[in-house]
Amino acid sequence: MKFRVEVIRINDDGAEQRCDVMELERHELAMETLGLSLMDGKTILHGVQDFVASQQMVEDLKARRICLSCGQRYHSKATGTHTLKTVFGPVCVPNPRWERCSCQTSGAKTFRPAAWLHGRTSPELLYLETKWGSLIPFERVAELLKEVLPVGESTNHETVREHLQAIAARIETELGEERPANDFECQEELAEQPLPDGPMTVGIDGGYVRAAHKQGCFEVIAGRSVVAFRRAEEDPVPPPKCFGFVQTFDPKPRRRLWELMKSQGMQENQQVVFMSDGGEDVRRVQQYLHPNSEHVIDWFHITMRLTVLQQQTKSLQAERAPDGAAVSKQVESVKHLLWPGNVEEALDRVRNLRMDLDLIRKHSAPAEKLAGGVAEFGTYIGNNRESIPNFGERYRQGETISTAFVESTINQVVSRRFVKKMQMHWTLRGAHLLLQTRTKVLNNELEELFRRWYPLFRVQARAA
Ligand SMILES: [Zn+2]
Repeated sequence: MKFRVEVIRINDDGAEQRCDVMELERHELAMETLGLSLMDGKTILHGVQDFVASQQMVEDLKARRICLSCGQRYHSKATGTHTLKTVFGPVCVPNPRWERCSCQTSGAKTFRPAAWLHGRTSPELLYLETKWGSLIPFERVAELLKEVLPVGESTNHETVREHLQAIAARIETELGEERPANDFECQEELAEQPLPDGPMTVGIDGGYVRAAHKQGCFEVIAGRSVVAFRRAEEDPVPPPKCFGFVQTFDPKPRRRLWELMKSQGMQENQQVVFMSDGGEDVRRVQQYLHPNSEHVIDWFHITMRLTVLQQQTKSLQAERAPDGAAVSKQVESVKHLLWPGNVEEALDRVRNLRMDLDLIRKHSAPAEKLAGGVAEFGTYIGNNRESIPNFGERYRQGETISTAFVESTINQVVSRRFVKKMQMHWTLRGAHLLLQTRTKVLNNELEELFRRWYPLFRVQARAA
């Protein structure tokens, strides 16, 4: 049995133009020969693409051939072609150069009528490369595209990376200037603004990425911005959005976060609460990102550290029951002091605990270990004393006290793509640019971005 696949172009006047795309023969029928193979599909798609694209160009050039001012035909200066990589393979289309019409006296002497034709890759292929390159390694993207689509052989991890970075660089160019560190309007102006929506919480965390050229590791910051509620109840609450950047590379982190929060409806007088695990690195980031914000340490991280200490008291209890029980009780009381934000009392309690442990640590390995843990905890609380609120009060008012979601953000934004694959080494720029497209993908914003750049890109998808 034979099949012939043909594309027919039908003009407005009904005239037809045909093009054979492929013939296929089927002999023995089996599971694997029923219908089209992937290879058949790729051949058909590439054949149809080639014909449709060249016919579109021919038609467009025909329509442009007549000078709109005087009705004369433009004279050809040079024929030429342009090769464009598309999701259905490379297409080579005519791209001539014509002479300026004799009725014109100014401007260039020759011009290309297809002036809109620029770049070597179609937006849809750029989109696919960027989307998947943001999620999985570049080599995998190239392999996958080549396996399922008739993309050209020249597609490889280098081209995927280049294309993704070009998209990211364009996103960066559009970001605008960095905002000054203290740029909030004066208080009176702020007071005149309508009440903002519910507090915005920005959970922030740091992660490490292995640097190229044996330069050790560098830090990336990732976070997620969440709007608790809308002042007007009928307004939908915007979805959370994540962001990421390489601190030592990014020239405009404040603008980045600012734009993100604005896209979620932030006003100038918005109350912004930063939350983190209280680690040294991220504490500084909060201050420079949004100076007039409140910084809250994540309750979850406090309890987690206390739980670890509590577990260590168990071996002390096993060794010397009364001492162990007393220490365990003290550790528990530190938690009860921190919940309502009694930092100074909690620190007193920690100091007492250390003194108690000092008395026995010389003769007890568990006490020795515990003393170290308690000292570390004391330093941690001391460093973060400004960021420990009355958690109980916040909790009763329905405010966020924990950002367990931040942990998942750093994993989502950073780890899977950067860290897990330990043999990958990143440059600051490469990591930073990837974070930009990656967060666009995770925030579900990449398609809309492409539509802004290419207004007819996937218009059906928007209509649906
Ligand atoms: Zn003319």
